[in-house]
Amino acid sequence: MAKKGNLYIIVVGCGRLGSKIAGNLSNKGHSVVIVDKHEASFEHLSQEFTGFTIVGNATEIESLKKAKIDKADMVLAFTNNDNINYMVSQVAKEVYKTLHVIARIYNPDNVELFKQINVKVIIPMILAESFFNQTFEEITEEEA
Ligand code: AMP
Repeated sequence: MAKKGNLYIIVVGCGRLGSKIAGNLSNKGHSVVIVDKHEASFEHLSQEFTGFTIVGNATEIESLKKAKIDKADMVLAFTNNDNINYMVSQVAKEVYKTLHVIARIYNPDNVELFKQINVKVIIPMILAESFFNQTFEEITEEEA
């Protein structure tokens, strides 16, 4: 169980997903640090984001140290690369013993690898498939 109240959360990847989630978490009162290798990516952040930004490559351990990964309650690996998200997840889980790690992954074949290190995954392809199936059911039931 996550501790209640204010969490210290590191978001890695400030693209369409990371920036949105970072804004939502800030809005809920959590302390958020977001890391991206491109400074321009921080332009995705909305007004509700009140945390810190760090320009850095997540494959370099220094970037994660700058984000104070040793203090994080939660790490979100949201780059657009499964291998990088795996590396970040592994460092968080196995080196820094971060309690909660969630990764976005594109290739469903990678799910098992992440599960083995106790990382929860978001798989856009699976979400899209299940949304499609549900919508298809609704449409065909309405028409039956
Ligand atoms: P999106 O696919 O729109 O959610 O964006 C993914 C984000 O991950 C982009 O802003 C990339 O710059 C960022 N990203 C990709 N690789 C790395 C990396 N090695 N370190 C930090 N950020 C990265």
